[in-house]
Amino acid sequence: MAASKGAPDIYSQFLSSAPGAFIAAKAGLPRPENLRRYKHGEPPLAGPVLIGGKGRLAEPLRALLSDYPAASAADDNFGALVFDATGIGQVTELEQLFEFFQPVIRNLAPSARVVVLGTTPEETTDVDEHVAQRALEGFTRSVGKEVKRGATAQLVYVSPKASPGLSGVESTLRFLLSAKSAFVSGQVIRVGAEDSTAPADWDKPLEGKVAIVTGAARGIGATIAEVLSRDGAHVICADIPAAGDALSETANKVGGTSLALDVTAPDAADKLAEHVLERHSGGADIIVHNAGITRDKTLANMDEGRWNMVIGVNLLAPQKITESLVAKGALKEGGRVIDVSSIAGIAGNRGQTNYGTSKAGVIGLVEASAPVLAEKNITINAVAPGFIETAMTAAIPFATREAGRRMSSLLQGGQTVDVAETVAYFANPASNAVTGQVVRVCGQSLLGA
Ligand code: NAD
Repeated sequence: MAASKGAPDIYSQFLSSAPGAFIAAKAGLPRPENLRRYKHGEPPLAGPVLIGGKGRLAEPLRALLSDYPAASAADDNFGALVFDATGIGQVTELEQLFEFFQPVIRNLAPSARVVVLGTTPEETTDVDEHVAQRALEGFTRSVGKEVKRGATAQLVYVSPKASPGLSGVESTLRFLLSAKSAFVSGQVIRVGAEDSTAPADWDKPLEGKVAIVTGAARGIGATIAEVLSRDGAHVICADIPAAGDALSETANKVGGTSLALDVTAPDAADKLAEHVLERHSGGADIIVHNAGITRDKTLANMDEGRWNMVIGVNLLAPQKITESLVAKGALKEGGRVIDVSSIAGIAGNRGQTNYGTSKAGVIGLVEASAPVLAEKNITINAVAPGFIETAMTAAIPFATREAGRRMSSLLQGGQTVDVAETVAYFANPASNAVTGQVVRVCGQSLLGA
């Protein structure tokens, strides 16, 4: 498993000491939970699953979750509460949410999961149903803010055209109902109508796949390389020539290849395509545009160089490289493009007009490219990390850094592995019905919420 990297969280260390815990309890200070994260061989959830609701997904949902231990309403340590809300066709029927959740919501295990499934509002044909389904978003996001001890809450909208077997939803449910989604909360994921084929082994879904990760020398990129490799992929680790030793270290660790590449170089896409096509017949299956930089200044103090550099690395490079790889056939049909946005691209951030612009542009890129790439069965999605413990965030002044960590439902910063697990979910061949989505990995940060 990828090691957690980044600056030590001094506050959490303080709380884990006996005097720290005592002072925190007396003063009513926030108590971040030690989040349950994926370990091979451990059960996905900390307790049994209670399924409720009576829509079109209820029966297939039970079949899909048949290998998870089932709970009864009388249990008091739920690993997950899963509710099929697709039967809710009008506002008065939203009461079903209250009836199911209210009696059991107190009885969640640590790091428990709440998942509500609905029908994609834009695909409903009825005003009442659209309103009721759209309302689910406010419900799940509010639940995410109320549940404690590392529990999370998500909403999955399923296309009304999805076939009754629900195979297209399985990868999303498995991700959300596992420790891999530890730092993902308050998210809404839309799943399309396509059927999916389950991988032979859910622990090695990327067996035989070739993945490119940019900015792989350190931080989030290095962990993405580790997690994709853990899942079976051969990883081409790309980073600037100056990253030298660190890049080789990541590539060696994951048994992959290293490629010195500045993503903004005019020939970057050609070089990448050439590398891939020479060594891997048919091209790559996955590209993760993780390379990113900040050059912070308030707009009044910003110079052109800082502006252009950030837009160039964070936004123009991912767009140009994807377009070129697809045009050259260096990214296979059925491929996966995963971009890295940021909550700064959603909420905006002081001193980051350049960075916020680039990361919001990444979201636009995902939205605009999804229908175009769908013609080649290529999906494109983005992760939008919040506060992740890396060298980038360790450089933030102490008070701002502490605020960034605590201003979220999970009351802590995330680990690089949390972003990497979300990338791996998008990369999964069984996630073919998931495209055009942006999943925040931010512990339900209050920024941009
Ligand atoms: P980092 O600075 O630790 O690592 C970034 C890597 O990208 C480095 O290895 C760097 O050499 C590489 N890189 C930079 N310019 C490049 C170029 N022109 N060509 C190739 N490689 C280049 O950063 P990180 O914290 O690991 O962030 C990774 C991604 O996640 C970035 O896109 C960042 O914007 C995003 N992000 C991070 C956070 C966070 O909290 N750390 C939050 C939101 C978004």
